Amino acid sequence: MSMKKRIEVTRPSMPPIEEYIDEIKGLWKSRMLTNNGEKHLELEKKLSEYLGVENLCLAVNGHQALECIIDVMGIKGEVITTPFTFASTVNALVRRSLIPVFCDIKADDFTLDPEKIEPLITEKTSAVMPVHVYGSLCDDEKIEKIAQKYSLKVIYDAAHAFGVTKNGVSAASFGDAAMLSFHATKVFNSVEGGAAVFKDKKNKALFEQLKNFGLNKEEPEFFGGNAKMNELSAAMGLCNLRHIEDSISARKRAAMRYRENLADVKGIYIPPEGDGVKSNYAYFPIIVQPEKFGASRDSVIDELSKNGIGARRYFYPLASENKAFGENRNTLKTPNALYASRNVLCLPIYEGLTDEEVDMICKIVRYF
Ligand SMILES: *Cc1c(COP(=O)(O)O)cnc(C)c1O
Repeated sequence: MSMKKRIEVTRPSMPPIEEYIDEIKGLWKSRMLTNNGEKHLELEKKLSEYLGVENLCLAVNGHQALECIIDVMGIKGEVITTPFTFASTVNALVRRSLIPVFCDIKADDFTLDPEKIEPLITEKTSAVMPVHVYGSLCDDEKIEKIAQKYSLKVIYDAAHAFGVTKNGVSAASFGDAAMLSFHATKVFNSVEGGAAVFKDKKNKALFEQLKNFGLNKEEPEFFGGNAKMNELSAAMGLCNLRHIEDSISARKRAAMRYRENLADVKGIYIPPEGDGVKSNYAYFPIIVQPEKFGASRDSVIDELSKNGIGARRYFYPLASENKAFGENRNTLKTPNALYASRNVLCLPIYEGLTDEEVDMICKIVRYF
């Protein structure tokens, strides 16, 4: 075993190095390395086309994009969100002085349960922030209906949903705004990077100003920060975007093979692909149902690890379990989220993972 390379849960996609060098060569002449340079403008345009959205703004990373979206939209008070997410979602709310109100998820696909939103709405609620977990799409129609009834904004954390569509419509276009992440470990990467997508065009202009210190030309008009994407990252994005279809196909192949291999294993639950959804196969989550499977999620992870395979407890712990919440930590109000975080594991999936590797991983899970 020690001779073999370890299989990690993910591996960033990278273009051929020559392609990247070609892409960045011009920068040594132009010396324009940031501040809405040529690569930035081109990537923004190409991504808008690929995703089929308007009003897309690039950012230094997904998290900063989310914080800027909150500012741009003037969100105040309480925001209803999910505890079953990466820390970033909830951190963005707290860092922008908002109160996250945790709503439970659906047990079948781990997304925010629209049936449980209304009882949590108070006069202080101003927005809902759902997450398209693992690229499983939220029930946007039901969420939209509730938002309209109570005049709430909807901001999607679409960090996992790059390129995912429902009935041909891009998930990045759902809601009043959406955040995308182009972090190295995501389906599409610009090393670090992210974007905001707005329904309303005027929010794009505001976002552009906010991500550049609040400057209008040279004049500061409000207290913005710095969340600009640089040209070397944009160039990486341009290269990776050329290969995105191949990259998603490779992930799909692995996902299908996992599904086939694990379909009849008692006590292993695999979330379904939604109706009309074209997935990006960003993750391959399974729930180990300990009572039926006869072993715990953590013991499966240990066994995989002994065999040189990195599976990840993602998301564990819940975002609502952050120690900083102190006395207010209460996971019992969101039992589905609690169950998922205690029993979920993500199996390795990336471009370059071979059929043999998938089969070996499945064998270990199956015969454990
Ligand atoms: C990756 C991720 C983020 C943060 O994106 P960065 O680009 O790493 O800042 C936010 N939310 C979720 C659900 C993520 O997976």
